[in-house]
Amino acid sequence: MSRVAELAAERVGAQLSEARTASILTDLVRSRSQNPQDGESAVATYVASFLERLGLEVSMQEVIAGRANVVGRLRGAGGGKTLAFNTHMDTVPQGTGWTHEPFGGEVVGRRLYGRGSADAKGPLAAFLSAVEAIVGSQTHLRGDLLVTGVVDEETGSAGARTLVPTLDADLALVGEPTSMQVAIAHRGSLRPVLAVNGRTAHSSRPEQGVNAIYQSIPVLEAFMEYAERIRDRSHPLCGSPSAAVTIMFAGVAENVIPGRCELTLDRRMIPGEVEAEVVAEIDAVLADVRRRRPDVEVEIDRFLATTGSASELDADHPLVAIALESSTAATGRQAAVVGLSGACDMTHFRARGVPCVVLGPGDGAQAHQPDEHIDVHELAQGAFAYALVALGACGHE
Ligand SMILES: [Zn+2]
Repeated sequence: MSRVAELAAERVGAQLSEARTASILTDLVRSRSQNPQDGESAVATYVASFLERLGLEVSMQEVIAGRANVVGRLRGAGGGKTLAFNTHMDTVPQGTGWTHEPFGGEVVGRRLYGRGSADAKGPLAAFLSAVEAIVGSQTHLRGDLLVTGVVDEETGSAGARTLVPTLDADLALVGEPTSMQVAIAHRGSLRPVLAVNGRTAHSSRPEQGVNAIYQSIPVLEAFMEYAERIRDRSHPLCGSPSAAVTIMFAGVAENVIPGRCELTLDRRMIPGEVEAEVVAEIDAVLADVRRRRPDVEVEIDRFLATTGSASELDADHPLVAIALESSTAATGRQAAVVGLSGACDMTHFRARGVPCVVLGPGDGAQAHQPDEHIDVHELAQGAFAYALVALGACGHE
């Protein structure tokens, strides 16, 4: 770091406090946003008024009726790159097994508990805290800093799909819990629902029908073989792809031969695998089943919504170095480049050619679990790291 950069980092760092960032997170956890039952409006309203109070230009972008992305812009002095800090405002539903209040944001020791405390309201609180510190320190960025909260990441990523094409970002950082490591690759998912058709009949005369459950057997066997076959592929940061039938749905009554059976396939893709090519592979598996068993009627009926495909960023990109240096400076531990096993909104930035990394406080293993929590010390380090990324990526005076 240059002396000017060091001074700016000190000025911004002096504005940050663990208690302040934790209190923002408590507010966010108390603003319920379970997807789909709550929607994101409580969080969106909080984020919008927070950013307006700091003097950012704020707009709302309605994605689904009553569910809007928030876009805040801290206008830079000019001559720098525009960086987007993006994360999602929705959480998965509360679920069962909690011993702490899921929407209390209670702090016990160093842990702050609540649904979304790690995934991804921790990173969101750290973004807000970082922007507050930059503004409070009167540090002027050269490029614009965008803070975007999107809806619906946990199901179909409708928010990011709508947002990213409308943004003028040169660079993006997606806030997800990575334990402060810098993720530059992640897996993606594709979920076709296969329909196996038979012919319904009274179950006292099964020979008059075609049992769709039995007709599914060769299809299941073919996908078990397929899952074995694709395990040969691998990505240095994301490991191997996978395929598993996760839902099988058939039958209307105990005395009726089922005329239809639906199989949902959860296909996890690694960077380098292209959605259209994976669909073609699945079609080829089905064609092979039909060739060997001409009596089996099977097709892809539809695709379930997912967060999206796999994506990656070249490890040599300057944004990766900025993120590594910022995380290391904030935590005092050398940060590493990693891959994520799950999908995230990075894919939508990469699909538009925007260089993007994923970085955030919180342990990804906490995501979607009862008693989800985050270490408030790491949360504060996250806020400082984000501020340093903004200084490094946007430039400053
Ligand atoms: Zn998340």
